[in-house]
Amino acid sequence: MISTKGYAAFDPVQPLAPYDFERRDVGAHDVMIEILFCGVCHSDLHTVRSEWGGATYPVVPGHEIVGRIVKVGNLVEKFSVGETAGVGCMVDSCRSCPSCEEGLEQYCEVGFTGTYNSPEPGLNTPTYGGYSNQIVVKEDFVLKIREDQDLARIAPLLCAGITTYSPLRHWKVGAGHKVAVVGLGGLGHMAVKLAASMGAEVTVLSTSPEKETDATDLGAHKFVVTKDPQALEEVKNTFDFIINTVSAKVSLDMYASLLRRDGTMILLGVPPEAPELQAATLIFGRRRIAGSLIGGIAETQEMLDYCAEHDILSDVEVIPVNYINEAYERMLEGDVKYRFVIDMASL
Ligand code: NAP
Ligand code: ZN
Ligand code: ZN
Repeated sequence: MISTKGYAAFDPVQPLAPYDFERRDVGAHDVMIEILFCGVCHSDLHTVRSEWGGATYPVVPGHEIVGRIVKVGNLVEKFSVGETAGVGCMVDSCRSCPSCEEGLEQYCEVGFTGTYNSPEPGLNTPTYGGYSNQIVVKEDFVLKIREDQDLARIAPLLCAGITTYSPLRHWKVGAGHKVAVVGLGGLGHMAVKLAASMGAEVTVLSTSPEKETDATDLGAHKFVVTKDPQALEEVKNTFDFIINTVSAKVSLDMYASLLRRDGTMILLGVPPEAPELQAATLIFGRRRIAGSLIGGIAETQEMLDYCAEHDILSDVEVIPVNYINEAYERMLEGDVKYRFVIDMASL
């Protein structure tokens, strides 16, 4: 076993604190990565506070991992020591169900192994994530990262990037489409950058008027404050797609009413409580509501390569690990531009 340092939640209410634990030895198909940066996703917060239930403490969160390979197993073919690599939300899946065979491991019918808070195959411990100095992962779930990029700004692509890229590709969003992004946070700011890069006309629907200039800088064409009834009225029946990243309980009726006929709202946010929705809002307008979960491994690599080619990076605030509890509070206030990323050298 490999002695590892990290930061963990020990229950739903106490602040995260240092935690020493052990990782499995590097197996034949494993890659060991020294973690340089790890993004802070709202899912980390939902999990450590057990807002979705089912947290197995201690929880070491973190699934936006970028680092350097320090060891490879003797049967590893795709990676070598010294290379830059990434790990996202999954570290394994069954590999044989129809979804896995289609490269959609996130929809594995047996259930994928999450990077943290999942049962670790073959061990009696949960998986431990990226708020730590190193991680051991099967090579099939490791991503290639181009060396010459700003690695702190790449880390959030591993969750926020792929989670927004995948539905934009699935629904073939591009030129001629009007796309609204609800919530300008970690996922939302990536959705704006990616949808704009694909040629869509992008509108941000936000509760925070002070984010307007940033939205424009990120590539949005319009900005609507959702507390302003007049501004909302002007965009009724407008959007082909709405990418909804809200992390808290909201009424979906207000947003769905902004879809044009046959428009689709894609839910990405996972609020702990069920949202409100009147059937009539969908019926009058044949509107649709869909969901989308991260993205498969091949698609994550495609997204990383796409972002490298189009010079798309996350806008980040780099923090030391001992700032994490304050970072969570600020994330809850919507006060982050637009992703916290932990510099793991601070561990
Ligand atoms: P985040 O950075 O905290 O951003 C969420 C944004 O939602 C906030 O910045 C805020 O934007 C808006 N918001 C917050 N509370 C709101 C409220 N009560 N009403 C309306 N808007 C509100 O979070 P994130 O990391 O982007 O994650 C967002 C959600 O996606 C979380 O639930 C997370 O668990 C989930 N998630 C899902 C997937 C997936 O695969 N589907 C992957 C990753 C994360 P404004 O200030 O602009 O209003
Ligand atoms: Zn995430
Ligand atoms: Zn499977």
